[in-house]
Amino acid sequence: MMGPRIALSLPVTGQAEQDAVLEALRSGWITSAGPQLDRFEQELAVHTGRRCAVAVSSGTAALHLALLAAGAGPGDLVPCSTLTFAATANAICYTGATPVFIDSDATGSMDVSLLDAFLTDSASAGARVGAVVPVDLFGKIADHAAISRLADRYGVPVVVDAAESLGSVREGRPAGSDGRLAILSFNGNKIITASAGGAVVCDDPALADRVRHLATQARQPVVHYEHEDIGFNYRLSNLLAAVGSAQLARLPEFLAARRAHRDGYRRLALTLPGVEILGGEDTGDNCWLTAIVIDPAQAGFDADEAREALASHGIESRPVWKPMHLQPVFADPERYPRLVTGVAEHLFTHGLVLPSGPSMSHEQRAEVESCLSELSGAAHTVDAQHSAGPAHFGPVGLRSAS
Ligand SMILES: *Cc1c(COP(=O)(O)O)cnc(C)c1O
Repeated sequence: MMGPRIALSLPVTGQAEQDAVLEALRSGWITSAGPQLDRFEQELAVHTGRRCAVAVSSGTAALHLALLAAGAGPGDLVPCSTLTFAATANAICYTGATPVFIDSDATGSMDVSLLDAFLTDSASAGARVGAVVPVDLFGKIADHAAISRLADRYGVPVVVDAAESLGSVREGRPAGSDGRLAILSFNGNKIITASAGGAVVCDDPALADRVRHLATQARQPVVHYEHEDIGFNYRLSNLLAAVGSAQLARLPEFLAARRAHRDGYRRLALTLPGVEILGGEDTGDNCWLTAIVIDPAQAGFDADEAREALASHGIESRPVWKPMHLQPVFADPERYPRLVTGVAEHLFTHGLVLPSGPSMSHEQRAEVESCLSELSGAAHTVDAQHSAGPAHFGPVGLRSAS
């Protein structure tokens, strides 16, 4: 099947990645150990400002192991952002713990006041909370200072899902530097890819050793096969680490390209009534994906109409993550508790992720922009004919929902 003419975000690889993988292949280090793997881990530790990094087969595997290392297990409650990719909640379930879905603030990050309410209630009810899992949505680093302060008060470890935020900086701290442990993803759609892969980063070497041990079948260091724990086959291949390392060297290039797209869309949004960039201010964001939030009353068109109009021009766009508490698999509130205000659902209904990848040219982005401008222009021509300007409509939905 032919893909869209302008895709949401495609991985970019070239000579550097080809050379790296061939070098690894020729070196004979073709499985889950080797110099490329060691180097990739060292580079990841540097990029995230951590003492330790363990590279694994996916971001999902990284979450699973980070949660186990943090001590989450059967019977525990684990609050996580409801506005995320399913892997966050799935990994919590793998440990036997129960995810508790926490709604978003207006930027899409975990609503810290809801987390506070949850932790207070759990403490008074005597419920065991295994970990807190905030997500850096679309690359925006959440308010980890506030989240960790709260979690510390209740003695609960924080595992940061930084799958989307590698390269971001908030208040001088790089993505992945917060929480007892944090995880990264190198899936094909992320800011860098190893074709597949992930990593756990932390500052405690004992925790890193535990993650490494669990990732390699929990084999004891003796000559025969000795196992004291149930382990997993989650280690990253040295060949893929070579790709990841070559991609990491290009991170500044990817950041600059995605930043240029974000800035372009931000300038555009200023000219379109009822259209805002999701996430608010974005100093230091990696701009992994740029999403807009459309208030149909003001904009004169809704997110579905925008997506269809873009698609008719061969331009791919997509709704933001569907909140976990609305997913059929997690729909039962008896089984999967939630603290919701409606903000994540609002962002799902009215949000739209625009093409943001580094392979999109400025000319292509201009096409996306003019398509949205036309839609807005057409809507407001109709408004003018009915002499009902956008000012007649109510407040922005996002504000009324929060
Ligand atoms: C991509 C992603 C993951 C999972 O990473 P994989 O490498 O695809 O397993 C987890 N959490 C979030 C928020 C993600 O976007």
